[in-house]
Formats: sequence, C-alpha cells, structure tokens
Amino acid sequence: MTQPEALQTPVYRTASGRVFNFSAGPAVLPEPVLLEVKEELPVYRNLGTSILEISHRSPEYAEIDASAKALLRKLLGLGEEWHVLFLQGGASLQFHQVPLNFLPKDGSADYLITGAWAQKAYKEAKFLGNARVAASSEDRNFSYIPDPSTWELDPKAAYLHFTSNNTIYGTQFQTEPEAEVPLVCDASSDFLSRRITPERYGLIYAGAQKNVGPAGVTVVLIRDDFLQRRNQPLPTMLDYGTHAGKLFNTPPVFAVYIVEKVLRWLEGLGGLPAIEAINDRKAALLYERIDRTDFYRGTAEPGARSKMNVTFRLPTEELEQRFVAEAKQAGLIGLKGHRSVGGLRASIYNACPIEAVEALVSFMDYFEQRYG
Ligand SMILES: *Cc1c(COP(=O)(O)O)cnc(C)c1O
Repeated sequence: MTQPEALQTPVYRTASGRVFNFSAGPAVLPEPVLLEVKEELPVYRNLGTSILEISHRSPEYAEIDASAKALLRKLLGLGEEWHVLFLQGGASLQFHQVPLNFLPKDGSADYLITGAWAQKAYKEAKFLGNARVAASSEDRNFSYIPDPSTWELDPKAAYLHFTSNNTIYGTQFQTEPEAEVPLVCDASSDFLSRRITPERYGLIYAGAQKNVGPAGVTVVLIRDDFLQRRNQPLPTMLDYGTHAGKLFNTPPVFAVYIVEKVLRWLEGLGGLPAIEAINDRKAALLYERIDRTDFYRGTAEPGARSKMNVTFRLPTEELEQRFVAEAKQAGLIGLKGHRSVGGLRASIYNACPIEAVEALVSFMDYFEQRYG
C-alpha cells in the first residue's frame, strides 16, 4: 500500500515553461499574443520605433483601432447600428457612466443583484436617481441566479442592468434575460466567451483584463437608438456620444493594441462558436472532478455555475490554504478564492488552455489522495 508521504508533489508547466495561471484578473493572455508583442518591441514593422511612442492619430495606430473594432463587430455579429468604444476607468466607471447617461430624471432603471459587482453598479445608479432592485440572490450569499419568474420588472424602466458572470461568486446567467426594455450588461468576466443575442441589448461593457486583453481599456458597445436616448447635457468625457465614431482624446494605445491581437487570436480559433465549445469542455472537466467525491464542494448552485470562474471549497480552511500553497509550488497559480466566498477559485477564461484545466484536475486528484 502506498503511504501518503510517498506521493511526490507533481510539477506542471506549459510547453514553453510557463506556469498555469488561474488568476481572476488581470488574467492569463494567449501566449502567441505575448510573443507577437515581444517581437514588435522596440520596433514595430518599419516604423523604427514602437507603437507606444507615436501619435494615436498616426495611420499605424488608426489601423490597429479600426481592426480591433472590425473584429469585435465580426465576432459578435454587430451591425452598423452599433458603436464600439474603447474607454478608460474600468468597468467601475461604467457603473456611474451608464446611469449618468441613461437613467432619466423622471424615470427609473431595473437592476438584477447577483453579486458584489452588481451591487456596486446599483449603488452608483441609486446615487444618481431612481434605481430599483428587480431581483437579488443576496439571501444565499449570491450562490444562485434568481429565477426569472420571481423578477419584478418595470416595463417602463429605461433599461435592465445585469452582470452576466459573477466573477467572485462563480455564478453565471445560463441564458440571457428576457425583458421588454433594453438590457445593459456588465460582461467583464465572460465577454466573448460564448454567443449572445445583440438585439436584446442597448449597451454592453467589459473591462478588458479578464477575457479580452490587459488592464487599461474598457470595451463599450452601444446600439445607436439607445445612445440617442441619453440625458443631456452631460460632462464631455462622460458623454458616450463624445466617443462614438471618433477618437476624442488619447486612448489607452498599448491596451487596445494587445486587445486587437487577442481578437485576431480568437477569430483564428473559429470565433465565438469555437471558444464556446472549448469553454464548455473546460468547465465540464473541472465540475466533474469537483462532483466526483465529497472532498471538493462547489459553492455555486449547480444550475447557476459559471464557466469562467469555478469556485469550490475543501473540508477545512487549513486544507484550503495548503492547497493554494502546494498548487503554487506545482505550477498552478492564482487559485485563492475571493475573501467574501473563501476557498478556491479557478478562473478559466478564454485564454486559459484546456491543458491548464487538465493539470488542475490532476493536481486535485493528487491532493485528495494525499490529504483526503
Ligand atoms: C473585475 C470586474 C469589475 C471591475 O472592473 P474594473 O475594471 O476593475 O473596474 C466589474 N465587474 C465585473 C463583473 C468584474 O469581473
């Protein structure tokens, strides 16, 4: 019989010798993208300098900006009625900018409260006007998505705001909400991870650092008829209209430059249908391992499980700390859960390869064998 002590701690590395990174954000980027960036520093094409050191109105940068926007349109199937914006301030500024533009003085907006980010968005909206809670899952520590039959939607609301994936709690809307009013979505942690129905939305925003690039840029998609409804007057920089269709001021050029490469990488894989299938496989592999024994316990209710952030617990907090430490030694980093949930969280965004999930599952087998 093998003694637990005799088990060797495994070591995992990517083919190029990198560790497997499960960070919630900023998060892993596709390796070909990083290599291309390296290749293009310090000299981009025949410029004699890098893309970071020239005007954002140069033809070279204009090409990158146009390419990134065209790729987003193509990947999501967005028609001409959509504006694509690259803004700064993170998703957190969108919590304020959305109601500033779209919550009318004499109207209201509905919010689905499914986690800490949704709460923050609601708080900013309430600060500006009449925001209503249409449903909340706070009663069970945000471990589920409230059933649509329980939502109290106002058909006169200016919009319905929701957080498609709850990064901290590991839950995700399994289907897009149905509402009579335009949807506004914080898609920061599952943007471009699966297909969506653009027609339902007025606005979609996503901080890039989870699923589409580095920190420093926020992708904002706005449908033109929704944009036209915005409040007036507005401070120039916070008016979406200022940024629709033109570069008003210096954009975060390095971040957009990398986003463009990530989008090309995604298109090369086969776009959203392809990445959706890969993400389904990765999540199935990991949840199947969690469910196989009682040693690991998923924290999200099975019907609400996220395919991006997989949250789980071990029998004791001591074992959880040990898991994080030993996993790091084994080459699996970023697994510590958010403090409000505790336990472990494996973020398996688009750029996280299936090999990373296989390595994690293998490590989970090892760890249970040793300590279970
Ligand atoms: C990370 C995250 C945010 C915050 O993004 P910042 O860019 O740091 O402001 C907001 N919403 C969701 C769903 C997130 O995952």
